Amino acid sequence: MIVKQLPYYYTLQISVQSMKQSTYTPNIFIIYTGGTIGMIKDPVTGALTPFDFDTLYKQIPVLESVNCSIDHYSFDPLIDSSNMKPAFWIKLAEVIEANYEQYDGFVVLHGTDTMAYSASMLSFMLENLNKPVVFTGSQLPMGMLRTDGRENFINAIEIASARDEDTPIVPEVCICFKNNIMRGNRTNKFNAENFNAFLSGNYPLLAEVGVHIKYNQQNILKPNFRKLKVHKKLDTSVAILKLFPGISENVVQSILNIGGLKAVILETFGAGNAPTEPWFINALKKAISNGIVIFNVTQCKGGSVEMGKYETSIYLESIGVVGGFDITTESAIAKLMYLLGEGFSGDDLESLLQTPLRGELTVE
Ligand code: ASP
Repeated sequence: MIVKQLPYYYTLQISVQSMKQSTYTPNIFIIYTGGTIGMIKDPVTGALTPFDFDTLYKQIPVLESVNCSIDHYSFDPLIDSSNMKPAFWIKLAEVIEANYEQYDGFVVLHGTDTMAYSASMLSFMLENLNKPVVFTGSQLPMGMLRTDGRENFINAIEIASARDEDTPIVPEVCICFKNNIMRGNRTNKFNAENFNAFLSGNYPLLAEVGVHIKYNQQNILKPNFRKLKVHKKLDTSVAILKLFPGISENVVQSILNIGGLKAVILETFGAGNAPTEPWFINALKKAISNGIVIFNVTQCKGGSVEMGKYETSIYLESIGVVGGFDITTESAIAKLMYLLGEGFSGDDLESLLQTPLRGELTVE
């Protein structure tokens, strides 16, 4: 039932199943950034364009009969997540910071295309996060009969509200999509068609939605009860160099010689392997001697970089390439922008890159 209606905020009742039932009504803050979930077909161009939160909200009448208190904030303008950029991440972090004390959990409605990047980035920006920040969206717009948005949205609200007595059950940045709750900085979008669009190839699910929501407590970060610290300086002096058989010296040199570049994610084959041709090794050596950090991340969606396992990776370690273990490219980009923004360089940067800061990698 809608209790109160304000221009930009709703308050309504949602029944929440938590591990230990209580009479407490959780306060949830929804941040609507855009994405397919809130899009409608433009009758003239036929292209999908965003509609406002009120229209989106009206597509889920069931929300009026559930029991938790909800307010919301909409980005203006709403964006297709392909337009996501650091300024929007900072805005998102600021909105969470400004509302952190008043709310028990946050749901971020976001386009699926760059959701894994945003969830990764927010995990680094929000240090000492002790409340759920649940990203969700959909493959089909909310206005369509077969939309996956309704289910994803309702599940996300439930995850953001879930508490065990006074403590949120999932106090971390996660993605809720097609019945799977995944650690945000472990995900990538691997399917542009299927409702099951996200993969967490190297980390088990935090929770699974079925008839009941099964929380896998052993996989979920524990709250540290420290004060939230929001990091807003992001440095974009980074690039991705994705290897492929036949990559030319020109391509490698043009990337490694970008002016002002501080770090490169080297997307390698398999367990962190790369060509052994002298021109390639020398190009990497030169970049490293110029102070550029080379971060070795595998192109595989599962498994880890193990420099030294093969002849084609042993030299990488000896010339000073930094192994990324099982981190995703999305998370590596976010972590580099965050650490460079904080002013880290040299050995400190390299050591932090190889240290799990928000559960983003597994050190073997
Ligand atoms: N292009 C859309 C976006 O990322 C796709 C989606 O939401 O699924 O904003």
